[in-house]
Amino acid sequence: MSSLLEVKNLKKYFNTPRGTLHAVDDVTFAIEEGETLGVVGESGCGKSTLGRVILHLLDSTDGQILFNGEDITNVNAAKMSELRKKMQIIFQDPFASLNPRLTIYQTIREPMEIAGGMSKQQMDERVYEMMDTVGLARRLVNTYPHELDGGRRQRVGIARALVMNPKFIVCDEPVSALDVSIQAQILNLMQDIQEASGLTYIFITHDLSVVKYISNNILVMYLGQMVEKAESDTLFAAPLHPYTKALLSAVPIPDVHHEKKRVELKGELTSPINPPDGCRFASRCPYAKERCFKENPVPETIEGNHMVACHYFREINQM
Ligand code: SF4
Repeated sequence: MSSLLEVKNLKKYFNTPRGTLHAVDDVTFAIEEGETLGVVGESGCGKSTLGRVILHLLDSTDGQILFNGEDITNVNAAKMSELRKKMQIIFQDPFASLNPRLTIYQTIREPMEIAGGMSKQQMDERVYEMMDTVGLARRLVNTYPHELDGGRRQRVGIARALVMNPKFIVCDEPVSALDVSIQAQILNLMQDIQEASGLTYIFITHDLSVVKYISNNILVMYLGQMVEKAESDTLFAAPLHPYTKALLSAVPIPDVHHEKKRVELKGELTSPINPPDGCRFASRCPYAKERCFKENPVPETIEGNHMVACHYFREINQM
């Protein structure tokens, strides 16, 4: 298998009146074709910014993005419109992301109109094909977003993202705004589509339980940085970073015989604006020592592709 996407030392900083906000700070990873990388972290950890920088919806500050082996860090408008067909996004809130003045037909057809090169009949056929793929009844073709429930609206968002036959999709909290029962339907749909078409996903969420079953690998972010990355099963079975342990301790396990102690995170959240030199988790970490406040840990590979950024992970995990 080859890497479809490689991200190397990617940074995205924003200038604010209070200083430089380090939204994404030196993040490196690769995704193999047909796989899903879950990107997890609390609100404000930079996960959505990371997705937007990869798709060029935001410019990067530094680092490199390779797609299919080609450096796409800096591309011109013509190249960008070519990439748009291959790289798509599904947004969290389908109601906010769909144009309320366009019917479902117009919404799904629009990317084809922008790209050009297809006849009206070809576009019509593709719209219906997409509606079938995502499980939207054809009778809804002339309805407007406000006439649909949340699950159907998100199906429209997925159909629109798929219509140009992309290779890669950033799914930015795609089920967070939906009822739990609908979440499972949409997750199953996305998995079915991936199996049928070999799509590659980055699945961004604050909810670890959502990514467990659909991700091959999971990357945990804290204040703009990667703190741990591992295969999904490994991460859930044996998390090494204190922050991952705390996140996992909050995930409910449906097993009455399995009692889990929730790790409460105490302490002030470090500001991502002009962050200090040390570990960004130090102010909340129960294992923090003097070194942690002076030196930011560099991600270290343990075995396979399990990476962790913590000075004391061996000691903490008695390795
Ligand atoms: Fe905690 Fe120190 Fe490890 Fe950071 S480097 S996670 S503060 S033990």
